[in-house]
Amino acid sequence: MSEQERDFGAGVAIEDLPDGARIAGKIGGEDAVLVRRGEEFFALGAFCTHYHGALAEGLVVGDELRCPLHHACFDLRSGEALRAPALDPVPCWRVERVGDRVFVREKIDAKPKRLSAQESARAPRSVGIIGGGAAGLAAAEMLRREGYAGPVTILSADDSPPVDRPNLSKDYLAGTAPEGWMPLRPPAFYTESRIELLTGTRVAALDAAKKRIRLADGTEREFGAILLATGADPVRIPVEGAQASQLQVLRTFADSRALIARTTSAKRVVVVGASFIGLEVAASLRQRMVAVDVVAPEQQPLERILGPGLGAFVRKLHEAKGVTFHLGQTVSGVVGRKVTTSGGAVLEADFLVLGVGVRPSLALAEQAGLAVDRGVTVNECLETSAPGIWAAGDIARWPDPHSGERVRIEHWVVAERQGQTAARNILGRREKFDAVPFFWSQHYDVTIRYVGHAEKWDELELEGDLDAQSVIVSYRRGGRTLAVATVGRDLEALEVEERLERG
Ligand SMILES: Cc1cc2nc3c(=O)[nH]c(=O)nc-3n(C[C@H](O)[C@H](O)[C@H](O)COP(=O)(O)OP(=O)(O)OC[C@H]3O[C@@H](n4cnc5c(N)ncnc54)[C@H](O)[C@@H]3O)c2cc1C
Repeated sequence: MSEQERDFGAGVAIEDLPDGARIAGKIGGEDAVLVRRGEEFFALGAFCTHYHGALAEGLVVGDELRCPLHHACFDLRSGEALRAPALDPVPCWRVERVGDRVFVREKIDAKPKRLSAQESARAPRSVGIIGGGAAGLAAAEMLRREGYAGPVTILSADDSPPVDRPNLSKDYLAGTAPEGWMPLRPPAFYTESRIELLTGTRVAALDAAKKRIRLADGTEREFGAILLATGADPVRIPVEGAQASQLQVLRTFADSRALIARTTSAKRVVVVGASFIGLEVAASLRQRMVAVDVVAPEQQPLERILGPGLGAFVRKLHEAKGVTFHLGQTVSGVVGRKVTTSGGAVLEADFLVLGVGVRPSLALAEQAGLAVDRGVTVNECLETSAPGIWAAGDIARWPDPHSGERVRIEHWVVAERQGQTAARNILGRREKFDAVPFFWSQHYDVTIRYVGHAEKWDELELEGDLDAQSVIVSYRRGGRTLAVATVGRDLEALEVEERLERG
């Protein structure tokens, strides 16, 4: 019998389950994973509710089972998705030990959480969340999950409800993910959870003392607590000679749709900038058979973040799919369909995609007089300089206990987890944000995972074989590992994360 067919209901010999074991099998026809931690046994659903990662290939850390794909954490005792990017729980079953075997029994129903009487008494009368992205949605969901019953409003300048933003440059843009995958939550979620979602609604001003906001149409609203989660805006560099209509950026669902619409007739595109997003766009456009030139000033793509080895590896991946790089160059001008580079190359393009980075959306925080220093300054609990106003995601600069520095990081998982922490702190928990940063990037069928944060390093160690797509790159400063990037070494990425957490 293969592991997948193993029937946990019929019992498993304890000797087959060494400490830390995760084995896949079935319970009454459902896929499950059986876990041993010390003398305790747990049974959870087999697949992560974020991107269906196989949890049997994940890691047990304390009372959590962590997914190898994007590091979501599930509670072994309840199946709750403790930390994003998964928001939904996995099923959980009771496990019984009888002699030298364990048997998986009935499903355990998740009990809805409730605020304690003390928490209810001090909870804000209402919560306004400015921003309908990663941090905003995760915060709203967590407020309800923790049992907050007061009014919750998300105000989002985006036209669409919160979407899976990372996918806008990946499978969705490549045409391999259907439209239905994109919303983080279906419309019914907002009604059933009593979350007022106002899309296409830009907050124009914030009175921090009164926690009052003014919308672009002049309407005013007041809240008991506010979470600022306004994210970032793509940088639009001027390109001499280019019409505005020739320059495309990618941040929103509307941007990704616009790109897709253009690819129905476009044959050639120039991507300006070899950033993660620029390169992911290049990969997705190649999958749509569009010819792609990448023009960027660096000598190797992503070299500043990943180092020269991984940079060269990413470049080779793209070149093998037909992308042409023009590195050490910038775009010097555009005339009609002709794009000239500083190196003298003349390229053809139906349009250009600007992938030259983002700037945190700080206008509202600045206007409100909050402390801002290359990001909204927050304390370890993510509260801004104004009591009762919190900030999370791409805009927040927080004291990171791992590096000992204030950092601002543009990662999906960080934003969602900050939204979750901010939500609990709005309810009075005083929880410090101490997650080790994590991000991933996908190029064709290769995913790079990155754990930790290394803005600068003095030593880089590459272990493994890039050609075999199995590698772990460590970034160190003063002999201390600050971050690790992996390809094809998912379990090790989780193990490093755990070591970094322990310091
Ligand atoms: C195409 C793409 C691919 C990416 N891929 C990855 C990846 O693979 N891995 C990874 O880790 N990260 C990735 N990222 C980065 C990740 O998406 C961001 O770090 C994350 O979305 C930040 O979350 P946030 O909540 O801070 O901001 P956002 O998700 O950007 O949400 C900001 C929200 O604020 C709203 N807003 C802004 N100003 C106002 C205002 N004044 N009033 C009302 N609403 C306002 C916006 O409309 C939006 O709804 C990607 C980003 C993009 C664009």
